[in-house]
Amino acid sequence: MRKLTILGATGSIGDSTLNVVAENPEQFSIVALVAGKNVEKMQQLCHRWQPKYAVMATAEAAQELQVLIKQSGTRTEVLYGEQAMCQVAALEEVDTVMAAIVGAAGLMPTMAAVKAGKRILLANKEALVMSGQLFINAVEQYGAELLPVDSEHNAIFQCLPTDIQTRMGRCDLDSAGVSSILLTGSGGPFRYSEIATLDTVTPQQAIAHPNWSMGPKISVDSATMMNKGLEYIEARWLFNTRREQLQVVIHPQSVIHSMVQYRDGSVLAQMGEPEMATPIAVTMNYPQRISAGVKPLDFTALSELTFLEVDYQRYPCLKLAIDACYEGQHATTSLNAANEVAVDAFLQGAIRFTDISTVNNMVLSSVCTANSSLHSHDLESLLEVDTMARRLAEQVLKEHLL
Ligand code: NAD
Ligand code: MG
Repeated sequence: MRKLTILGATGSIGDSTLNVVAENPEQFSIVALVAGKNVEKMQQLCHRWQPKYAVMATAEAAQELQVLIKQSGTRTEVLYGEQAMCQVAALEEVDTVMAAIVGAAGLMPTMAAVKAGKRILLANKEALVMSGQLFINAVEQYGAELLPVDSEHNAIFQCLPTDIQTRMGRCDLDSAGVSSILLTGSGGPFRYSEIATLDTVTPQQAIAHPNWSMGPKISVDSATMMNKGLEYIEARWLFNTRREQLQVVIHPQSVIHSMVQYRDGSVLAQMGEPEMATPIAVTMNYPQRISAGVKPLDFTALSELTFLEVDYQRYPCLKLAIDACYEGQHATTSLNAANEVAVDAFLQGAIRFTDISTVNNMVLSSVCTANSSLHSHDLESLLEVDTMARRLAEQVLKEHLL
């Protein structure tokens, strides 16, 4: 039986993970659940799953949870704060950690799981974008097992040979005969909108993804295609690619979840319903396949599969992320931080949809000019870069947009 800690248990990936557990109750047990501030949902999860530990982000949330848990007679121990999250990610009795906290907040707990040599099911792409080579080095150094949950990376993973699957971050695509990786993206809800109308887009419109149901931050990122940008950087690290080996293709139907092109002209694609339970199930009991509770893809019900080139005018954030990827770690860490600040401001109604790329662009440009003074050789310096970029983004908001 696999013993799990779920980081980000109350979110969309948390839900899908627990659905897969419910499909396969004899194969998994839940040791710890971690979330931000959603006390009510955490209480329901504790009641249903009876974890040994529940960790909330703040003392207030933990106190509220404690009261509810006592009332319901659940025996879960309630903890709070980043250090407790790191502890439950590294518990001796846990072998598998679902890393699904949204944003930079996921970095330290995910890293704690890596340093404890766990099987890491990586949904929290921001952690890898923020720490890149350091993260991959730690996976190797501590003997952790890294399995990609993000649907595109999971698709690519499935299209690669086993010896590459077991060497995420350190693989040699050339020796496997791979010529390129095709990262597909739907283009989000505004792929056919007039570009000139994008400044009037509301948060409700932006989070209404045409194919996938996801948390608010990644939904906005999908609309700007910053999500594909973060995924591009994520793919660069997971699959150890060179620039010419990585391409983005728009595929509006989200039936193909990404592809691998081989030297001999073969292209392998992974297809399925747009349900995260599938990639999650692939990782949870890897290499055995388990039921994900997802209906089989019905080819007779599909219309056509189409593919388009990316229009960077429509998706300036994607271009920024690709540029940042080749600029260096300080650039991707800063871009990720700026984007979190900008998306938050957009979701709160403080800035326009098109301002997100303005913030990201201004922060990235200023970081790239300051490049020589920014270090990214250890986690502490990366966290400093993150903090500095957030401050810059707040400044851009204040001086130019609010
Ligand atoms: P979500 O907003 O639905 O859930 C986020 C989870 O993180 C919640 O449980 C929340 O309580 C927790 N959280 C937030 N701040 C926290 C903090 N400071 N400390 C501890 N926990 C905190 O988001 P989601 O859609 O489930 O996405 C989670 C991650 O998975 C993101 O990194 C996202 O990019 C990635 N991802 C999601 C999908 C998807 O389909 N939803 C697909 C691929 C990758
Ligand atoms: Mg994805």
